Order: sequence, then structure tokens, then C-alpha cells
Amino acid sequence: MERKQYQLGDIVQMKKPHPCGSNEMEIIRLGMDIRIKCVGCKHSVLVPRAKFESKLKKVLRSNSSAPEQGEQ
Ligand SMILES: [Zn+2]
Repeated sequence: MERKQYQLGDIVQMKKPHPCGSNEMEIIRLGMDIRIKCVGCKHSVLVPRAKFESKLKKVLRSNSSAPEQGEQ
């Protein structure tokens, strides 16, 4: 399975859209728990990292300005 790369400030898409209709969430805190904020309604939720990763569909936009490293 591919490991998902994400970092603070990234916009991510979750498997289930938020009740407000938006499925874009911004990562606003990283730690043992991850705080994400809905881009649509600005509501933020705190989820355990394992739960976040299981619900994460993909990273839409990365906050990083560094080029991606394709080498292993
Ligand atoms: Zn929302």
C-alpha cells in the first residue's frame, strides 16, 4: 500500500464529504492527533492520526514549495 504524504497546511480530500457539502479539509495541526478544518464551513475537528489516515482519500494541494523527491 502506498503511504500518503501530508504535512501542515495541506488541503486534503476525505473519503466522506463534510455535511456542509465540501470535501476539502485543511490540516491545521499535526501531532498524535490531527486537526483539520473544513474549507467550506471553517468547522474544525480533531481526529486521531490512525483514523485520519484511514479516512484520507488524497492530498489535493501540498503546502510545500520544495520539489518532490522521486528517488527512494
Ligand atoms: Zn464543512
